[in-house]
Amino acid sequence: MTAIVIAVDGPAAAGKGTLARRLADTLGMAYLDTGLLYRAVGMKVLDTGASPADADAATAAARALRFDDLRRSDLRSDAAADAASRVAAIPTVRKALLGFQRSFAATPPDNAPGAVLDGRDIGSVVCPDASIKIFITASEAVRAARRHRELRQRGLAAIHSRVLADMRERDARDSSRAVAPLKPVEDAFVIDTSDLNPDMVLAVVLETIRARGLV
Ligand code: C5P
Repeated sequence: MTAIVIAVDGPAAAGKGTLARRLADTLGMAYLDTGLLYRAVGMKVLDTGASPADADAATAAARALRFDDLRRSDLRSDAAADAASRVAAIPTVRKALLGFQRSFAATPPDNAPGAVLDGRDIGSVVCPDASIKIFITASEAVRAARRHRELRQRGLAAIHSRVLADMRERDARDSSRAVAPLKPVEDAFVIDTSDLNPDMVLAVVLETIRARGLV
């Protein structure tokens, strides 16, 4: 049986993770946050004292990535996000991470009937034949406010202007890189979540998935 693959792409703090996790829970599917792979590679490179822009160091870290590396507790930090978007611009790093993502989608763990993957290039590169591609976005102001609130809720000191500046820098790097830049593919279902809460976003997407007869 071919697994159902739901691709969720979009910029930082647009609500991808929340949507993808809730879709997977509701539909009994497996979930992969592909940003974690890039974050883990970025942190592995920083551990060695090298720069995340060092292609050789980053490629070696990507090739040596183990499942346990995804469990480290500092992957949600700003340092990890910044390092992630630097290693993510290196073509050989992206190539090294492709196999893991594709096999997760094709053979989801625990015999799940399908997989939800979120990231930046799931619909364009990782799973171009996904059953459905969702591109989720929101205005920059809304995304910065969400990220700021999320950091504060986690007890981390965060200054709004700094969060906005970091997010802008990361979005610009993700959108302008030569390999797998962030942009909606033609066959993506695009949702702007600026004025929607997570329940509304989930409802719209579930309706679309059901209307297409995928579940
Ligand atoms: O989604 P998240 O914010 O955790 O991703 C961290 C960084 O990893 C992104 O800014 C992006 O540079 C990179 N990334 C990517 N492709 C993916 C997932 C994440 O380039 N599929």
